[in-house]
Amino acid sequence: MYYDKNTTIYLNGQWIKAQDATTGLYQQSFHYGNGVFEGMRSYKTSKGAKVLKIKEHFERLLYSADKMYIDLKYSVDELTAICYELLEKNNMQDAYIRPLVYTDENMGLQPESKANLFMCAWEWGKYYDQPVRAMTSPFRRPDPKSCHVEAKVTGHYTNSLIAIKDAKQKGFDEALLLDNHGFVAEATGANFFFQKNDTLFTAPRGNILPGITRSLVMDLAKENGIKVEEKHFTPEEVYNADGAFFTGTAVEINPIESLDEKPFKKAWNETFGHELHQQFNHFARTA
Ligand code: PMP
Repeated sequence: MYYDKNTTIYLNGQWIKAQDATTGLYQQSFHYGNGVFEGMRSYKTSKGAKVLKIKEHFERLLYSADKMYIDLKYSVDELTAICYELLEKNNMQDAYIRPLVYTDENMGLQPESKANLFMCAWEWGKYYDQPVRAMTSPFRRPDPKSCHVEAKVTGHYTNSLIAIKDAKQKGFDEALLLDNHGFVAEATGANFFFQKNDTLFTAPRGNILPGITRSLVMDLAKENGIKVEEKHFTPEEVYNADGAFFTGTAVEINPIESLDEKPFKKAWNETFGHELHQQFNHFARTA
């Protein structure tokens, strides 16, 4: 699914076939989860591929690397050039792009700073096939006092993996995770918004990965006169709201049908989420 015999990837300054790429087994990232990464999407426009919010994504990659003591010796401009060359070499326009920075061989518990950069792309359609049935997860997001929650670190995703597995085992599509104080934080790979009384609400920064899509959606809402409030709220405040949706690079803007089997009141196409999704599609596909 992710590559075939023709797929080209970028690895430490070289363009090689995905199937020929190798890596060592003693890299610290494998053992202790200290790698940083991004998830980006490119869209086909009249002027070719456009990677949505590319600058913001690479700035976040550099921020994440810095927080984790990884010495990533690339600038945003260099990363941008590699990214577009990657798309060109693979003849892709609508694609998902995955830059991963993993560290060198080191079995000690001193953070290894030497970075390896891997970048690849594949065609990835819709993340969910339909409106999502979400449940409040018994798992909580990592405490910001324990790790850098605003950094996109590979190890943080063990929390996402167990939460989504638990939700699926219970018959749901997605898990909505609370923060350590019991307020709604975010999903396993997406931010959360709900609509009530003509206002959109989303969790403030602090206990979430502040998504680039979340920020774009807030900008689009502002442009369209839709009020957005960042505040702490509990799942009970979300029950029976007018509507709700997830935002993220992979999920884009995806409707949520229900939370804990309590359906949202309005039809999707009557909600702000639907309106913003249309705006988002237009923005993403405009050169
Ligand atoms: N929260 C988490 C935990 C995520 O993994 C993601 C995906 N990167 C998001 C939110 C959404 O972030 P973005 O819009 O930048 O993709």
